[in-house]
This record gives sequence, structure tokens and C-alpha cells, in this order.
Amino acid sequence: MVDSATLYIVATPIGNLGDMTHRAIKVLQEVAIIAAEDTRHSQRLLQHYQINTPLLSLHDHNEKQRAERLVEKLQNGQSIALISDAGTPLISDPGYTLVSRCREAGIKVVPIPGPCAAVAALCAAGLPTDRFRFEGFLPVKEMARRASLASLQGETATVVFYEAPRRIRETLSWLLEELGEARAVVLAKELTKTFETFVAGGAREVLAWLDADEVHQKGEFVLMVGPAPVTPTEIPQEALLLLKRLAEELPLKKAAAITAEQFGLKKNALYQIGLTFNAET
Ligand code: SAM
Repeated sequence: MVDSATLYIVATPIGNLGDMTHRAIKVLQEVAIIAAEDTRHSQRLLQHYQINTPLLSLHDHNEKQRAERLVEKLQNGQSIALISDAGTPLISDPGYTLVSRCREAGIKVVPIPGPCAAVAALCAAGLPTDRFRFEGFLPVKEMARRASLASLQGETATVVFYEAPRRIRETLSWLLEELGEARAVVLAKELTKTFETFVAGGAREVLAWLDADEVHQKGEFVLMVGPAPVTPTEIPQEALLLLKRLAEELPLKKAAAITAEQFGLKKNALYQIGLTFNAET
């Protein structure tokens, strides 16, 4: 039995209907009202699970006024569930105003966890997960998007983005220009669906994969950028300066080898640092 006067935040599948949890189905069947981002879209999911609870729309354009109405209903003892079109509500989806209003009003808010594209992508990408930063969607305008990407130069956590199919190619090519090709990138596409794909490499390799087939650019994407390589503090400034100078004239491999010999350092560590020079200029 659901509790009265409680708002439930219910995660729904991101592509695979089988990812609906038992608890999510039960809560959606038992609450008085389901607030949904797009009622027509959610109807299909609800029909599939024989959930006949009345629906009410709550989206970006009506959330403020709807939140007040829903808070009143909750204060009158009704229980309500919030769902979005896919995944976890409030994660790049509506619901923040409603949840914060409920918290202010002392109304109980209960999460019913389940699918979330960012977490699904991250846990299978092979990038460090001890620290990560979720950025949602990048800005649409070129200057702002490039600035967001450039700001990741020194980021030491894995960064997770959502990106629209019409922008994914552009974003990756700007990422390549702003961060260089040494930075690890993983693109997760169509998670939980039949054609789920993970593409890993540098931005250049992932771009090449996108360009290899028009179909590759269609679908839903989570883009992840690995942490910036930490510049080892034990590498003296003089060695970095020499490496930089030599790399202007010689292939990086050679520049790294000469610097390594000169300073008794590891060739590979210098090579990795050299790869980041492009991103800094
Ligand atoms: N609330 C959702 C969640 O928990 O993941 C996210 C909603 S946001 C409006 C939609 C974006 O999430 C898509 O544009 C895409 O970037 C990402 N996304 C959602 N489903 C996905 C999937 N099956 N595979 C890859 N990315 C997905």
C-alpha cells in the first residue's frame, strides 16, 4: 500500500520496457494521480502494465502552476506519483519545482529508483567512476558550447553529458578542437535497446565511427569524457619546457625520447603530457 499524502518520484524505462521495477508498477497502480511529462507518451507504458491511474500533465511550461495544485492535493491526503517520458524524473527532466515545493511544505517525497541513462552509460563505459560530474545537455550556441567543453581541460572527474542526435557530431568535433585527441571519450548509444552500442577512444576515433555510417548518428546518446591526465609534479619545469620546444620541431615521440634521456625521466609519461599540449594552445 502506498502512503497517503506522499509524492513518489518513479523512474521508468529508457528504452527497454522490461526495466520497469515491481515497486514502480505497484506505486503507479496505487497512487491517486500520476503526474506525467507527456500523458500520451506515458499512456503506452501504463497500458502495457495495466495501470489505469488518472494522469495529469506536468511539464516545463506548466510546472509552477501545476506544482501548487499538486501540493494542495497532497496536503489533502492524496498520494501522487511523478514520472517523466523516460528514466528518472528531475534528471534533465521536469520535477524540481514540485519536489522543492513539497519539501518546503513538509510533504513526504519518496524516490522509486530505476533506469537513468547517465548512470547506465557510466557503469559500463570503462571510465573512472569514483568521481563523476553530470552536466546534462550542453548549451546550444557554439560559443557557449565550446566554452563548456574547454572548461574541462583540467577536470579530474569523469564528465557525463546528454546530447541530441542533431548535435552529436558537432559537439565531438568541437570537443576534439578544445581538448585534443588524447582525452578519453566514450559514446553510449541506444542504451537498453536492441542496437545498444558503446564506442570508446579519443574524440577523433569516435568521430570517425559516427561518420562511418549515417545510422550511427541517429538515436539517443550519452557522451562521456574521461578525467584530464594529471601532470606529474615530479617532472621538472625545465623538462616540460624542453619537451614543448622540441615538440614544435620534431615528432612528439622523438621529442619525448630526447627529453627523457636528458632528465632521466619516463619516455611514455612525457609523451602523454606532450599529447595535451595541443589542447592548451
Ligand atoms: N531522465 C532521463 C534519465 O534518467 O536518463 C533523461 C531525460 S533527457 C530529456 C533525455 C536524454 O537522455 C536523451 O537526449 C539522451 O541524451 C539521454 N538518453 C535517454 N535515454 C537514452 C538511451 N536509451 N540511450 C542513450 N541515451 C539516452
